[in-house]
Amino acid sequence: MRFKKEKDPIRFAFIIFMVLVVFSVGQLTWWIIFQIDTGRKQKQYQLDIIDQEIAYLAHHINRDFQSFVDIASLAHGSLAGQPAELKKFYDNLLDNPVVAGYRIMDADGRILYQGGVIDSTFYVVIGTNARLFFDRAYPEKIIKTHKAELDFKVAGFHDGREIPWVAESMLSIPPDVETQLEKESRRHIVMFVSEGGFFMLLVLFGAYLIYRTLQRSEDLKSRQQNFIQAVTHEFRTPLTSMRLYLETLASGKVSSEKTGDLFPKMLEDCDRLDRLVDNVLQASLYNQDDYRLNLAETDLAEDVNDYLNSMVPFIERHNGELYRELEPGLRVKTDYQSLGRAVAALVDNALKYSPTEKRRLEVTLRKNADRAELSVADIGAGIPSGEQDRIFERFYRVGNETTRSVKGTGLGLYLVRQIVEAHRGEVEVSSDGAGQGSVFTIKLPMVSG
Ligand code: ADP
Repeated sequence: MRFKKEKDPIRFAFIIFMVLVVFSVGQLTWWIIFQIDTGRKQKQYQLDIIDQEIAYLAHHINRDFQSFVDIASLAHGSLAGQPAELKKFYDNLLDNPVVAGYRIMDADGRILYQGGVIDSTFYVVIGTNARLFFDRAYPEKIIKTHKAELDFKVAGFHDGREIPWVAESMLSIPPDVETQLEKESRRHIVMFVSEGGFFMLLVLFGAYLIYRTLQRSEDLKSRQQNFIQAVTHEFRTPLTSMRLYLETLASGKVSSEKTGDLFPKMLEDCDRLDRLVDNVLQASLYNQDDYRLNLAETDLAEDVNDYLNSMVPFIERHNGELYRELEPGLRVKTDYQSLGRAVAALVDNALKYSPTEKRRLEVTLRKNADRAELSVADIGAGIPSGEQDRIFERFYRVGNETTRSVKGTGLGLYLVRQIVEAHRGEVEVSSDGAGQGSVFTIKLPMVSG
């Protein structure tokens, strides 16, 4: 019979999510391009409008000038030979802002009458011997009342009726208006590129976070599987050896002195099983949020001494050498049993991960500022720097299953961290790398006063 492979809903959701991410990033890119293009078009549109205004203004000003030229020409036609009447006519014209002055001359060019401002070079010759001077500031005045700011360059003398007074080329958009438009358009581009880019990064960052979380959950899954294999093995080894001892005893073929040797071995197997069950149970216990420690103030050195004393036979059985240097009088609130479990786990590891000939461990307790620091140092296998952060994770073990010669469950340091953090402390590891030994330090806050 074959088992149907279970579909992974998270993986499926991730694929859907990635499709959405790709789609959103595509949409954002399109949006940025669209906005930049719109900005450019808008600027061009504004420039076109100003150009049209220029054309309109030029036309408007020329029409004003031309209408006075036409009226004056008509007057000259009807008042020919009556210079005094012409003077009256021109004097009336002076009220108009377009007209700056006039000059009437006889056939020999002698001035008969003149009025207004006549130093202007901006004039037209009317009839044969009169000149009508226009206000050269008039186009500028018109422009000022208009919303577009334009530069007007006075062209100077003008005496032709066919040529327009003000050419479109005389009116131009001032450079600062153009730079302003340019700036606005650039600001537009920067705004959309940065906003769009920011959102794009946000989407990608979100995708990365989700990817990492999934990766971690996969990792945890495989570590859990390894854990089950390791636990099964750990259970089986003492069980197998106990069964062997029991079978040997049951066969009745063993001498009574040898029988005596078997019982301590069986007891050690029982202890091993007991520790394992305890570890697994504790790991699930500490994982519950409402787990409470039974805290009591104590002299930490005394407790640590107790813990170590009870471990001396175990350490000796494993060829370990124990050195201790414990500063007395450091008052700390601890849960005696839990902290003992944490110290035992560190000592156990220090032995486990050191070769038989190098099982030397040093336990030190000293005060550092307002904390008590308890270190367990060994000269064993050491821990690569890349792994040092991770060894406190649940089920995490350094290396891969095949390279690990020492059996374990990956629960010990997880428990240590849970216990220490429940004491409002911290646990740290330092190691110069593989083969360089390790130092685990538990830092606990001291009772003040
Ligand atoms: P276990 O010992 O059951 O594997 P732990 O949580 O106690 O689990 O330790 C996690 C990992 O950290 C171990 O698998 C080992 O690789 C590494 N480690 C722990 N203590 C030491 C030590 N003293 N020296 C070297 N490596 C260690």
